[in-house]
Amino acid sequence: MLAENLTKNKTEKIPAEKILEVTNLKKHFPIKAGLIQKTVGHVKAVDGLTFSVNRGETLGIVGESGCGKSTAGRTLIRLYEPTEGSILFKGKDITHLSERTLRRSVRRDIQMVFQDPFASLNPRKTLESILEEPLFVHNIGKAKERREKVEELLATVGLNPAFRTRYPHEFSGGQRQRIGIARALSLSPDLIIADEPVSALDVSIQAQIINLMQDLQQELDLTYVFISHDLSVVRHISDRVAVMYLGKMMELSEKHDLYNDPLHPYTQALLSAVPIPRKPGTAKRERIILQGDLPSPSNPPEGCVFHTRCPQAMASCKSIIPEFKEVKSGHFVACHLYE
Ligand code: SF4
Repeated sequence: MLAENLTKNKTEKIPAEKILEVTNLKKHFPIKAGLIQKTVGHVKAVDGLTFSVNRGETLGIVGESGCGKSTAGRTLIRLYEPTEGSILFKGKDITHLSERTLRRSVRRDIQMVFQDPFASLNPRKTLESILEEPLFVHNIGKAKERREKVEELLATVGLNPAFRTRYPHEFSGGQRQRIGIARALSLSPDLIIADEPVSALDVSIQAQIINLMQDLQQELDLTYVFISHDLSVVRHISDRVAVMYLGKMMELSEKHDLYNDPLHPYTQALLSAVPIPRKPGTAKRERIILQGDLPSPSNPPEGCVFHTRCPQAMASCKSIIPEFKEVKSGHFVACHLYE
């Protein structure tokens, strides 16, 4: 059904519906010190993200550990209060909605899948009560209907419905992530923010979970924001990919464009370290070794935040912040080389 819709969209050139629109989103955490816990600075974990996500697509967000991608995910779902900027979900501004209004109107439609399914599942509860809880909180169905829904959810993620009486510790890592996904699906969301959902799993299990997520996307018309440090995993599942560095977006593009023709020097360096199959006859990609460590997000470099490690840095990069702009159709980059 989804595939049909997408094909229709492509042939009839109907503009895709933007399910999520993010403008200049910032999340700065105060650094407190001293006896009176005075604010002495800020960690700029997310520092001015602008992007949108179309219904039915998967936007991958990739970057090194500490680049702010997980904070971005949590801020999108309002687990963290944004410091600045706006978040529109299905055209509605949810940036400053109260928790009560959020719960009533939005929480059902945006769900999160976390990296560590074990930590996010209450070990003292059976699968039935874990999966039933969101339905209960949102006052959905009677006891019998909720139980049927739990069994349906388990079957949907490839688990035996009879497992509903078991506890999380009785399952393997991959099965626990299936439970995490079932819980995220319990309220029939439109958008799922998946934060490193396969990083804790063996490679063979990773593939099963990714395949499951792709199947569910088609069946249930889901939209994903898929956050990962793993460029290969992101490439596999995403339609478009955004690259983050020190709280900012460096590049955003349709995935084939980004992987075949990366424009930003940081993306080029990241991709040069990943074994990617080459087309016959094309030259081998040279490995770009980045010098220095990732600067602290509490004291990011002036100008382009990447200038301290960029092999192509120019004088202007040290003082002027590059604008994040579209340099080719659908291909955005923040770099003075493309001005
Ligand atoms: Fe490198 Fe300058 Fe581009 Fe930043 S703006 S990525 S420092 S060339």
